[in-house]
Amino acid sequence: MLSALQVRERAAALSEADPAATLAWAVETFPGKVALTVSFGGGGVVLAHLLSRIDRSVPVIFLDTRFHFRETYEFKRRFAKRYGLNLVELTPLTDPGPLYKTDPDRCCFIRKVEPLERAIVGFDAWISAVRQDQSDSRRATELVEYHEVRGRPIVKVFPLARWSRAEVWRYIRENGVPYHPLLDQGYSSIGCWPCTRPTAPGEAERAGRWSGSGKTECGLHTFTVKREG
Ligand code: SF4
Repeated sequence: MLSALQVRERAAALSEADPAATLAWAVETFPGKVALTVSFGGGGVVLAHLLSRIDRSVPVIFLDTRFHFRETYEFKRRFAKRYGLNLVELTPLTDPGPLYKTDPDRCCFIRKVEPLERAIVGFDAWISAVRQDQSDSRRATELVEYHEVRGRPIVKVFPLARWSRAEVWRYIRENGVPYHPLLDQGYSSIGCWPCTRPTAPGEAERAGRWSGSGKTECGLHTFTVKREG
C-alpha cells in the first residue's frame, strides 16, 4: 500500500495525465485491489468505457438503492453487457421505506454509504467520476487523493477531476458511448427518482439533486477522511 507521501508524489507525476492514463495507472498500481463506482447517470460511463479497454476484470460497483429510475436499471444492464463489465451490485442491509421524505441523509447512509463502506474495505483504491466543475463542494478534487476510512488507508482516484462537462460529452460523442436516456429528457445528473428532477437551461449540473432541500451530496464522498500526508 502506498503511503500518503507516495500518493502525493504519484499525483504530481500524473499532473498532465489524461483520464485514460490516470485510470491505467490505478489499475496497474493496485492489481486486484481497485474498484470503480458508477451510477450510470452521468460521466461515469466515460470511465466504464475506458476501463473496458484496459482491464474488464476490475470490479465496477453499482449501488442499488432500490430507488433508481426504471431507465437506470435498464441502461445499466445494457451497458454492462455490451462492454463486458465485471459488475458488482450492492444493496442496503435493510429497507427503511420512504425515509427520503423525512431524513434524506439517513436514507442515503442506509442505501448508499453503508453498503459501499462495507465493500470498500476489500480494496486499496477507489476510482470515481467526480469532477471539479460539478459543484463548489467538488472544486478541490485532485486526480489522486489519500484518504482513510475507519483508520484504514484508501487511495481515491478521480481521472475526470479536471475535465469539464463539455469534455465529457465530447468523449461520449466522439467514441459513440451510450449514455443514460434521461439525459436527453432534461435531466443533467441522475440519482434516485424521489430526489432527482430535470434541470432548466443554465442551471448547475447537480441542481436537480435534492432540489430545494439544501442537501448537495449523498455522503459517498465524505465518509472517507482526506489526509494530506
Ligand atoms: S438519493 Fe434520495 S432516495 Fe436515494 S438514498 Fe438518498 S435520500 Fe434515499
